[in-house]
Amino acid sequence: MTQRIVIIGGGAAGIDVLEFLLREQTERKKAEITLIKREHEGFFSSCGLPFALQGRYELNELVLFKPEFYRAKGVDFRTGTEVTGITVPGKYVRLATGEELPYDDLVIATGGRPVIPPIPGTTLEGVFTLWSREDGERLKAVLDAECAKNAVVIGGGMIGLQAAVAFARNGLKTTVVEQCPSLLPAILDADVASVVQNWLPNEVTFRLGRAVRALEGAGHVASVRVNEEAIAADLVLIAAGMRPAVDLARTAGLALGACGGIKVNHALRVKRVGSYLNNVYALGDCIEVIDAVTKRSRLSQLASTALIQARVVTSNLLGGTATYGGCLSPTVASIGGLQVGSVGVTTAYARSCGMNVKAGIAIKYTKARFFPTRKLIVAKLLFDASTERLIGAQLISEEGIAERINELTLAIKAGATALELIMRERCFEPSLTMVEDVIVDAAMKAHKRATTP
Ligand SMILES: Cc1cc2nc3c(=O)[nH]c(=O)nc-3n(C[C@H](O)[C@H](O)[C@H](O)COP(=O)(O)OP(=O)(O)OC[C@H]3O[C@@H](n4cnc5c(N)ncnc54)[C@H](O)[C@@H]3O)c2cc1C
Repeated sequence: MTQRIVIIGGGAAGIDVLEFLLREQTERKKAEITLIKREHEGFFSSCGLPFALQGRYELNELVLFKPEFYRAKGVDFRTGTEVTGITVPGKYVRLATGEELPYDDLVIATGGRPVIPPIPGTTLEGVFTLWSREDGERLKAVLDAECAKNAVVIGGGMIGLQAAVAFARNGLKTTVVEQCPSLLPAILDADVASVVQNWLPNEVTFRLGRAVRALEGAGHVASVRVNEEAIAADLVLIAAGMRPAVDLARTAGLALGACGGIKVNHALRVKRVGSYLNNVYALGDCIEVIDAVTKRSRLSQLASTALIQARVVTSNLLGGTATYGGCLSPTVASIGGLQVGSVGVTTAYARSCGMNVKAGIAIKYTKARFFPTRKLIVAKLLFDASTERLIGAQLISEEGIAERINELTLAIKAGATALELIMRERCFEPSLTMVEDVIVDAAMKAHKRATTP
C-alpha cells in the first residue's frame, strides 16, 4: 500500500521535509504526499523580510516557489487551507471545510506566532509585527508613503535591530526599547552587545532595561509609554520574540514542554498519553529541543535549525533511524553592515544552568595588519571552567563571521578545549587572514586565566 504522508505547515520546516522527501524517496516506493498551509504562496522566505524593508530587493522576490512547482511533482499542495483538528487514534486531520484527510504518517510544522506583550494599545493602527508576507507589505506601504516620522521598535533582538536599521535608513527617527539591560540578550553578553549598540546609526536611540507599559493614541498610535516617558511614535514594531503555535497539538492531546513547545524525542516523534508515537513527527518553531551544552529544554526558532530537523524527520519517514542530537543554534545576522555571530551558550544562560564560565575576549584584524581592507574583529569565547571545553562563542566584525561561527560550532560539538583551539593548524594568506586568528587569541586569554593561580 502507498504510504500517505500529511504535512501541516508550509514554512521553512514543512517545505524542507517536502523537498527532502521528493529528493530521497525512490520511484519504486513513492509516498502520497499532502502539504497543507494557510498562506497562498508555495514558499515565502521570512528571513529575507528585514532586507526588503531596507530596500535591498522587492518583497515579491522572497516568494521562492509557487504551489504549481510542487503540484507538478505530484504533491497534493493545499494553500489557503486551515487544519482544525488532528485525530491521533483515527489517524486523520480535519480541515476547516469539514474534509477529513487520512494519514499513515503525520508531520506537524505549525511554526510560531509573534509574542504580543499584554499591554494596552497593541491593536491601535500603526502597530505591526514582522513575521509574514502581509506584515512586510503593510510595513513597506507605510515606509513608501513617507508619512511616518517616528518609529519605536519593541525588542532589541535580531529582527528588531534589523528592522530599526531599515526604519532609520528610510529617514525615521527610531527608538529601540529592550527590557533587558543590553541588546541581543539571547545571543550576546552585555560587553559584546555594547559594540553593536555603538555601531548602529545615530538615528537609532535606545531605552535599555525598560519595559513598555502601553501604546497610546486615539485610533492610531501616537506614543509609547516607557515608565514616565512617552516616546513619540507613529509606527511601532513589536519584535518581542516568537511563541510556538501549538493549539492543534494541544487539542490533539500531544505533550507540551516547559518552554511551551511540542515535546519530541531524539527521532523528533511526538508524545501522547505517556509514550512517543511512531507515526507523528514535529519540527521547526513549534517544538522545543534539548540544548546540546546545558542538556536543558529550550526553543531554537531558526530556519537553520529546522533544516537539520527536516533531515531527521525525512529519514525516519522513509524507514531510517536518524536522531537529532540537540541544538547549538549557530546564529549570524547582518545589522546595518555589522556581522554579529553567536553559537552555544551566553554567560548569563550558562550561569543560570549552574555552569561556571571562563571567558577570553580578543580584538584583532580579519586580515594581515598591513593589508588595507582589513577590518577589526571582536571574539569572545566561553569555556566550561572545570573542563576548559568550549561552550559558547560570540563574534563581531564587518566580515568573516559566518565561517568562524561554523568552525566554532564544530569545535563545541567535538568537545574542543582552549588548548586544542590554540594548537589547531590554520590557513594563512595576508589578504584573507591574520597568521594568528582572533579565535586563537581569545582562547589563549581564557587558557591563561584558567592556568594562572
Ligand atoms: C523577520 C524574520 C527574519 C528571520 N531571519 C532568520 C535568519 O536570518 N536565519 C534563520 O535561521 N532564521 C531566521 N528567522 C527564523 C525562521 O524564519 C523561522 O525559524 C522559520 O521560518 C520557522 O519555520 P517553521 O516552518 O517552523 O514555521 P513558520 O514559518 O511559522 O511556518 C508555519 C506554517 O504552518 C502553517 N500552519 C500553522 N497552523 C496551521 C493550521 N492550523 N492549518 C494550516 N496551516 C497551518 C502556517 O500557515 C505556515 O505555513 C527569521 C524569522 C523572521 C520572522
